[in-house]
Amino acid sequence: MIAKKSWHLRSGGLGSMQLPEITYWEHEIIQVKIAMSYPLRWVNSYLVGGADGWSIIDPGPRTADNEQAWHDVLQQLDIPWSALQSIVLTHHHPDHYGMSGWFQQQTGIPVWLSEKAQAEAIRSWGLDSTAAHDLVLQFNRNGMPDEITSQLPDHLHSFISQVTPQPHLSIIVPGQPLQMGGRTWETIETSGHAAGHISFYEPEQKMIFCGDAVLPQISPNISLIPGSDPHPLHLYLQGLHELGKYEVEQAYPGHRRPFTAFQERTIKLLEHHSERLDKMEHMLRQQPSSGYDICIGLFNSKLSLHQLRFAMSETLAHLAELERCGRIRHEEQNGHIIYAT
Ligand SMILES: [Zn+2]
Ligand SMILES: [Zn+2]
Repeated sequence: MIAKKSWHLRSGGLGSMQLPEITYWEHEIIQVKIAMSYPLRWVNSYLVGGADGWSIIDPGPRTADNEQAWHDVLQQLDIPWSALQSIVLTHHHPDHYGMSGWFQQQTGIPVWLSEKAQAEAIRSWGLDSTAAHDLVLQFNRNGMPDEITSQLPDHLHSFISQVTPQPHLSIIVPGQPLQMGGRTWETIETSGHAAGHISFYEPEQKMIFCGDAVLPQISPNISLIPGSDPHPLHLYLQGLHELGKYEVEQAYPGHRRPFTAFQERTIKLLEHHSERLDKMEHMLRQQPSSGYDICIGLFNSKLSLHQLRFAMSETLAHLAELERCGRIRHEEQNGHIIYAT
């Protein structure tokens, strides 16, 4: 299946902000590329249409530019705000969840998210959140130097504006169908990339909105987050096995381009993680190490703070999986964790 039509918009008047690329797909699905920070650069939002109106899946991070972008996109598409029916979220990350509260403020429409993902949103951005403090402790114990971890609270705080205002949520119950655009979608919960992540599958046309659970070209980040799932990679691999069973002809991911070879992609991702686990076990066989040393050994050392945070959390997720499988163990000495085979 190929896109029918695609164009770039440019605003007149002030500034020369390039407005989102819009792509029409079959079955009244419209892909809108909403801007976000490097290295991903854009998140795919999708408008799903039907007789009763439109749902928006994952509207993107909230910024002033993205607010303007959505005004212009809806005007260009000739979709009145009153025709918006619901906001549907695959997961709680700011690049997906971010603008949902803003849309709700404009329209009063329901915002759908799973209960587990709601708990993650509260843990990350609730008023009593200790997420930044907990992450600093976790990274320090795993060998990350203080001069890096001391920058984390401000860095994490910078995401709050992207998710403000927060929505009042309607809860997706995994396994119970959800109506979007005149179609009934199966809701499939798979964790690992984000606790309570939901993919939406439509069996008649064999299409899936897979959020960040399965991405083409890039491997979705799997993070060990303090207070969240203790074995995220284990859950992620289970989720890939489950998603791989669905017959999919067209997949609409949260980043990069919609793609067709969905099952093959789940297999590739399983292989990638298996190789990564082997490599880390091999590294630890050479020398017992901290999580931070393994992280630096695996990833380029010239990462931005943002990238380093993901690399470190991903490394810890893999170490947790190796330990769960009995392939490595850890010891804590003077508050520092060392892993060994
Ligand atoms: Zn995500
Ligand atoms: Zn994302």
